Amino acid sequence: MSKRICIYCSSSNIIEEKYVKAAREFAGAASLLGYTIVCGGSVMGLMGIIIDTMIENGSAVEGFIPGFMEDMEIHHKGITQLGVVDTMSERKELLRQNSDVVIAFPGGLGTMEEFLETFTLKRLGRYDGTVILFNQDGFYNKLIDLLEHFVKNKFLNSNYKESLIVVNSVEELINAVKNSRRETLEAKHYLPE
Ligand code: AMP
Repeated sequence: MSKRICIYCSSSNIIEEKYVKAAREFAGAASLLGYTIVCGGSVMGLMGIIIDTMIENGSAVEGFIPGFMEDMEIHHKGITQLGVVDTMSERKELLRQNSDVVIAFPGGLGTMEEFLETFTLKRLGRYDGTVILFNQDGFYNKLIDLLEHFVKNKFLNSNYKESLIVVNSVEELINAVKNSRRETLEAKHYLPE
């Protein structure tokens, strides 16, 4: 079944090769499976790697980029479809729209911001796709510890685990995408226990 996968990932070009390798492997598999990828649309970091790999494999990849970034000439010129938007908020909305899955690959503040917004919307019943955290080599262990700290101190319902899939390898990631299904949670999911 064809799926639309929204990817949040690093814009850094100086990260370790293992992160690049995993992004390339995932994009190769996504292409073989006939999935469409939508992402930040720039040539930078893992975004650029994923877009290049999809294109090399003849697959569609879409991006949304705010005008000020296009002005900086960091948009990917070979991407299948690029939407230029006014604001970062609009971009996040369009990236997420109609996606079956969102995946947070290793990334920094931009990735975190995108991931946390969609994860929160999922828990409020405002996003029906599957939210996946790619915890490659424990990259997000500290974030998971923070979520557990929130739970322990009653700032977060422990049911957050029902709305978040954490995977540790590209293989697990591909299986999680294959098994993903759309589901709208009730907004009360968000309430404290
Ligand atoms: P970061 O994790 O801070 O590298 O930010 C990457 C995420 O934020 C991506 O998923 C993009 O959607 C967005 N973003 C941040 N910086 C850029 C950039 N230079 N080009 C395109 N997207 C970016």
